[in-house]
Amino acid sequence: MSGKDVNTMKIAPKVWKNGEFINWDDANIHVMAHVVNYGSSVFEGIRCYETIEGPAIFRLTEHMQRLVNSAKIYRMDSAFSRDVFCDAAVELVSNSGLDSCYLRPLIFRGLDPEKPSFGVYGLNNPIESYIAAWQWGKYLGEEALESGIDVCVSSWTRITSNSMPAMAKAGANYMNSQLIKMEAILGGFSEGIALDDRGYVSEGSGENIFLVNGGKLITPPLGASILPGITRDSVIQIAREMGIEVIETSIQRSALYLADEVFFTGTAAEITPIRSVDRITVGTGKRGEMTARLQEEFFKVIKAERPAPNGAEWLTFINASGEKKTASA
Ligand code: PMP
Repeated sequence: MSGKDVNTMKIAPKVWKNGEFINWDDANIHVMAHVVNYGSSVFEGIRCYETIEGPAIFRLTEHMQRLVNSAKIYRMDSAFSRDVFCDAAVELVSNSGLDSCYLRPLIFRGLDPEKPSFGVYGLNNPIESYIAAWQWGKYLGEEALESGIDVCVSSWTRITSNSMPAMAKAGANYMNSQLIKMEAILGGFSEGIALDDRGYVSEGSGENIFLVNGGKLITPPLGASILPGITRDSVIQIAREMGIEVIETSIQRSALYLADEVFFTGTAAEITPIRSVDRITVGTGKRGEMTARLQEEFFKVIKAERPAPNGAEWLTFINASGEKKTASA
């Protein structure tokens, strides 16, 4: 089956919905669904890479675990387990006709047409589970991975764990991210960095952040209202295996300006160097040496050119018959 082209973007022709595959064009919901009115969704973003052994989904189990964790925090009882989501993702990719793609699993509160419920209390609304996939290029631009990007510190504060837990990847969190991103783009930057409610560095609108100082890697701890990023974890593990010391600690805004190197990590952003913050040049204003080394190792892992650290299984290969196989490389 070949993918659908919309404005040159290749899209998987099917969408997985509650255990079945439906056509992309039929994946619609009612305007009065709970999620539309109250933002009650949790989701994931996962990349499937083209490797020397065919397409492979990166850290599928960890992403689907985070999806079910996010759903649990919001008392969303999906009828489907982590492993069912994993199998569905593999089947979707294997029938998509795409060599590489971005996967978007989504769980939300919908609307029961027989017993409609319109209030904030969502526990009487049905839980809907979907996975869609499409081909998505480099999120922050092709050039960004090499040249780096210009970012600003946002005037918006990151959501706090007592109001909107950043540990859940909830759709509503991205209202905060949208404020950060819009302000950055309209101000002539590529991305914004949010500070947490204590004034310490938190993360980008859709990325975790790392600083390099004196050969050490420094990143905000989970307590800084960050999403526990899977790319963040991958970079920490790869760095430690390379003998690089990684420190998770509170970071002041001014430390961003003085760091030797700064970079973002994320499924969409991968490892993107930051060349300036608030128009202050970071380091040499180019991709730093450690950023380049980490990128090199990370890209080898995702392309199955080297094993993941500690023999972990980070790639789920999609073979032609649609069966899955996990391997460390
Ligand atoms: N923080 C936020 C707010 C994000 O949206 C993302 C992207 N999912 C990340 C961090 C990076 O997480 P991951 O590496 O798991 O994609």
